[in-house]
Amino acid sequence: MSTSGNQNTIFPKGEKASADYFTGTAWVKNLVSTEDKFNTVIGNVVFEPGARNNWHTHPGGQILIVIDGTGFYQEKGKPKQPLRKGDVVKIAPNIVHWHGAAPDSEFTHIAVNPNTQNGVVQWLEKVTDDEYNGD
Ligand code: MN
Repeated sequence: MSTSGNQNTIFPKGEKASADYFTGTAWVKNLVSTEDKFNTVIGNVVFEPGARNNWHTHPGGQILIVIDGTGFYQEKGKPKQPLRKGDVVKIAPNIVHWHGAAPDSEFTHIAVNPNTQNGVVQWLEKVTDDEYNGD
């Protein structure tokens, strides 16, 4: 099974994610915004190999739906979890975590952020290489 190369052509790549909140290169395509009045923000995120977001929390929680490649999810103080196409991650409000691609694979997930009346995201410090490469 191939884990390299991005087979996902469902959504356009969108905009390059801010280097303030991501290490490496990632792309974000907004699908549902706060302006749509569902109290939910949904985006498609493509991480290039090795790319990941900063540690962060979601005041309203978050659901990740993996649609391509292999990557990781880690909660602060816990081992990082490998993710692959078809995995769904439910992240409770205010849990400190990060998500991103494996070193040798692109990684694409849909990020669903509900309860936006409580806030969407609070960004924290970068995930260091030691943290990224650790357990
Ligand atoms: Mn998140």
